[in-house]
Amino acid sequence: MRIYADNAATTKMAKPVIDVMTEYMEKVYGNPSSLHSTGQQAAEALAQARECVARVLGAEPKEITFTSGGSEADNQAIRSAALWGKRKGKTHLISTAFEHHAVLHTLKKLESEGFSVTLLPVYGDGFVRAEDVKAALREDTALVSVMFANNEIGTLQPVKEVGAICREAGVIFHTDAVQAAGHVKIDVEEMNIDMLSLSAHKFYGPKGVGALYVRKGIPLFSLIEGGAQERSRRAGTENIPGIAGMAKAILLAAERLEENGVYERKLRDALIEGLSKIPHAALNGDPEKRLPGNVNFCFEGIEGESLLLLLDAKGIEASSGSACTSGSLDPSHVLLAIGRPHEVAHGSLRLTLSPENTMEEVEYMIREIAGVVEYLRGMSPMWEDLEKGVRKHVI
Ligand SMILES: *Cc1c(COP(=O)(O)O)cnc(C)c1O
Repeated sequence: MRIYADNAATTKMAKPVIDVMTEYMEKVYGNPSSLHSTGQQAAEALAQARECVARVLGAEPKEITFTSGGSEADNQAIRSAALWGKRKGKTHLISTAFEHHAVLHTLKKLESEGFSVTLLPVYGDGFVRAEDVKAALREDTALVSVMFANNEIGTLQPVKEVGAICREAGVIFHTDAVQAAGHVKIDVEEMNIDMLSLSAHKFYGPKGVGALYVRKGIPLFSLIEGGAQERSRRAGTENIPGIAGMAKAILLAAERLEENGVYERKLRDALIEGLSKIPHAALNGDPEKRLPGNVNFCFEGIEGESLLLLLDAKGIEASSGSACTSGSLDPSHVLLAIGRPHEVAHGSLRLTLSPENTMEEVEYMIREIAGVVEYLRGMSPMWEDLEKGVRKHVI
């Protein structure tokens, strides 16, 4: 049995998405900037895809810019808002301690370029507080960036409230919605969002394509210089098959949002219930207000990497956190941000489900994970110390 439970890292493309992309690669190969019919056919495909992505978000087509993915959209949103702020003498940026590195590293770079950055705390339940955003606002604040759903622990942030606070203060509000788009309902109007990043490969679309929503009236500066594509907001010949694939994927996701959400929550809750029975295990993040397919646990006395390798041998494909931090020995900045001690943060396991997973798989995972955790603890000197009382249990 092979169980793919790492859908927050990336998803398997949906068959109708592959079909659309194949068709575009075979038939709609023109350059949308060309004036001949083949080119114009591609331009038409581009316009249709833009319309489709806009509609799903409650936006207008001209508010959508296509990018190479979530990282580029995050970089561009933040750099652009920072530049716009700087022109008006505003050089303060607010974000949170548990953002994706595409946001955190961009902010770090901007800090070295003279901007000041406030990173708000995340509480033990996995949420940022809207009041904290309000308290952190300054006269010179140019941007607030708070993610929609965290990529490790799946908690859904108070986006609408934060957006309302920013709107009132006249500050641009960006949200990294890469984990949320296609999984939970998003409406940029209702949620007071000014800028939003998304990425197709997180909702059963292709890798290497994403979008940035920017509310009309807010300028968007280009990261890449060149031709006048994307109304001069992003140079480079458009990735038509990718963009058409993303449009198909977001449409499918929107159509099945309710149904998939109900199904995934059922699997998620069963998995949480089963894994909670393992001694000295703790769920990370609120049990309810999280992405429908996200489960994230810490197991005391366990080293995450060993757990992943043994689970892979049992056919379970999971993650210890984000793909970007695996391979490094640092514990997850997200788990540290919610207050997990270093040694506990090292023993984390993220299982992220899709509608292709089944209840049988969930039952198998609960059984096997319990077994592997017990096995690893049996070999761990740290666990021996905990059992003997030399060290105190923290969870
Ligand atoms: C995956 C992810 C990104 C990066 O998106 P790419 O398309 O892989 O560049 C950014 N933010 C979050 C929250 C993500 O989960």
